[in-house]
Amino acid sequence: MQSEDKIFDFIIIGAGIAGASVADYLAPEAEICVVEAESQAGYHATGRSAAMYVPAYGPPAIRKLTRASGDFFHNPPEGFSDTSLLSPRDILLVGTKEQSGSFDDFKKTIKSASNMVPISANGLQDYQPLLRDGYGAQGLLDPTGSDIDVDALHRGFLRQATQNGAEVKTNHIITSMMYQNGVWHLNHKQGVIKAKAIINAAGAWAEEIGRMAGAEHISLTPKRRTALIISADPSLDLLNMPMTIDIDEAFYLKPEAGQILISPANEDPMAPCDAQADEMDIAICIDRIERAFNLNIRRIESKWAGLRSFVPDKEPVVGYSEMAEGFFWLAGQGGYGIQTSPAMGRMAAALALGREIPDDIQQQGLAEDSLLSARLQR
Ligand SMILES: Cc1cc2nc3c(=O)[nH]c(=O)nc-3n(C[C@H](O)[C@H](O)[C@H](O)COP(=O)(O)OP(=O)(O)OC[C@H]3O[C@@H](n4cnc5c(N)ncnc54)[C@H](O)[C@@H]3O)c2cc1C
Repeated sequence: MQSEDKIFDFIIIGAGIAGASVADYLAPEAEICVVEAESQAGYHATGRSAAMYVPAYGPPAIRKLTRASGDFFHNPPEGFSDTSLLSPRDILLVGTKEQSGSFDDFKKTIKSASNMVPISANGLQDYQPLLRDGYGAQGLLDPTGSDIDVDALHRGFLRQATQNGAEVKTNHIITSMMYQNGVWHLNHKQGVIKAKAIINAAGAWAEEIGRMAGAEHISLTPKRRTALIISADPSLDLLNMPMTIDIDEAFYLKPEAGQILISPANEDPMAPCDAQADEMDIAICIDRIERAFNLNIRRIESKWAGLRSFVPDKEPVVGYSEMAEGFFWLAGQGGYGIQTSPAMGRMAAALALGREIPDDIQQQGLAEDSLLSARLQR
């Protein structure tokens, strides 16, 4: 059968981590096609992350999905990846004397804070030797963090999906779509592709795709985050150095493949695009990092920016549209789309197939209505 005549069960728009993970879980049960605008899957947010697994990070549903993803990260299916997906990396939250209220708020909001180790001002440099003398007044050490091998995770999802029959078409930009007699017709430069249902995993472009489909407005805002790589003194023990995050998330620093990644943790709203590091963000980053750490940054080895896309409550939007038939949202992963992807992809596949949220994910306390777009209209 010619591809143009074929009617897939699902077309997934976007081959980032969201599209790849849901494709993996749907492929054994449905005929699916993943369409990706770029020549390379993972070119946008997925390929630009800080690659961290931080269970205490993000709003409630995100934390539940992160916890529900833990098992997969530790025990991926046979043959999923040649390397382990996680490498332990402690997280150190730091703050100055003026930020003590932020620690109180954090402890009130995040239940797992009670399992973190409080570090006094005197002890901070034992954990993070780069901190300036007298900078930090207190810290909280979270031993449950890890570095994620994002490339292995993303490739693993895509490989399993294709082994189970999924088609992946790169260089396919969906430009418009129409729903006719129970079938979605998606137009791209090379022709038309058809499916009974669409999964919108288009990252920063998800609102644009929703508009094409006549779906509800979800107020998705892509926000630019910038990251820089600087060289590290060879005498530093980078293996055991914690990722160090300002308690108000004004900056972070983490070891990255023998170098150091720094970020001003910016969230600058912008239209969906191929985001680039902005000179002002770079200057702010260097200033904040040099205030907190004993670093004199003369040279930037590399720099990039990516878009983290949020709806107003910062929780993801996962479920069928209330307005456009057969149109499924998988959007708003914000700054947590990698660490939540195993559970998010599995849950999205179940919901797209008309099933309930898998038991183990429900047991984390996740309810379906907290994920639907309808919550945004309240
Ligand atoms: C600097 C930075 C640090 C981060 N750190 C972390 C972290 O430590 N841990 C974590 O879990 N998360 C982190 N994130 C967030 C994470 O990267 C995202 O949540 C995640 O990658 C989103 O994945 P996605 O598949 O939804 O989007 P994307 O990876 O952007 O994929 C969407 C895809 O859809 C395609 N697309 C869009 N429109 C169309 C169209 N019309 N037709 C066809 N294809 C289309 C795009 O080309 C794109 O490839 C970070 C992000 C940034 C920028």
